[in-house]
Amino acid sequence: MHPDVEKILFSRVDIDNKVHELGDIISRDYAGQDLLMVGILKGAAVFMADLIRAMSIDVSIDFMALSSYGASSKSTGVVRILKDLDKSIENRHILIVEDIVDTGLTMTYLLKILKARNPASVRICTMLDKPSRRQAEVPVKYNGFTILDQFVVGYGLDYNEKYRYLPEIYVLKKEIYQVK
Ligand code: 5GP
Repeated sequence: MHPDVEKILFSRVDIDNKVHELGDIISRDYAGQDLLMVGILKGAAVFMADLIRAMSIDVSIDFMALSSYGASSKSTGVVRILKDLDKSIENRHILIVEDIVDTGLTMTYLLKILKARNPASVRICTMLDKPSRRQAEVPVKYNGFTILDQFVVGYGLDYNEKYRYLPEIYVLKKEIYQVK
C-alpha cells in the first residue's frame, strides 16, 4: 500500500463489480434513448472510462472541468467552469458522471447551468457519496458507494494532484491533508 494511505476502502474487485452493476442499470434505463454522458474532470475520468465500457447501449461522451478543492480538502462553494461542453445539449438526455458528491455545492451549481440549456433530462451518477457533509440537497440517481466523512484518494481521486493513479480507493492519512 502507498505509505500516505491509512487503509483500503474499496478493492479492484469491489469497484469492478459496482461499475458493472451501474452500467447494467443505466443501460436498461436509457435503452432506445440518445444518451450523452458528461464526465467531470479530472476526478471522474477513471470512473467514466470504466463505466462506458460496462454499458451495453451506445452512448456519446463529453467532459466538463470545474474548479474544485485545489490544494485544500475543504469546499469553498465557489465553482467555475474551466472547460465547457463541446456541443449544445438541447433535447438530449444528459447523465453527469462525478467522482464524489460531498457538500453538494458543485452538483447544485452544475445542475442549474445544465438545466438552463434545455436538455430532455439531466441525472447524476456518482461513484461515491458522502452525505454527512451535505450543504445542498442533490438528486443523485445512480450511486456506487456511500462513505463516511473521510478523505479518499485513488481511482481518479486526488489530493494536491497526487494519488489519482492508484487503482483502488483508499482513506488518506489525516496528517497528509491536515494543516500543521
Ligand atoms: P462538493 O461540491 O460536493 O463538496 O465537492 C465535490 C468535489 O470535491 C468532488 O468532485 C471532489 O473533487 C472533491 N472531494 C470531495 N470529497 C473528496 C474526497 O474525499 N476525496 C477527494 N479526493 N476529493 C473529494
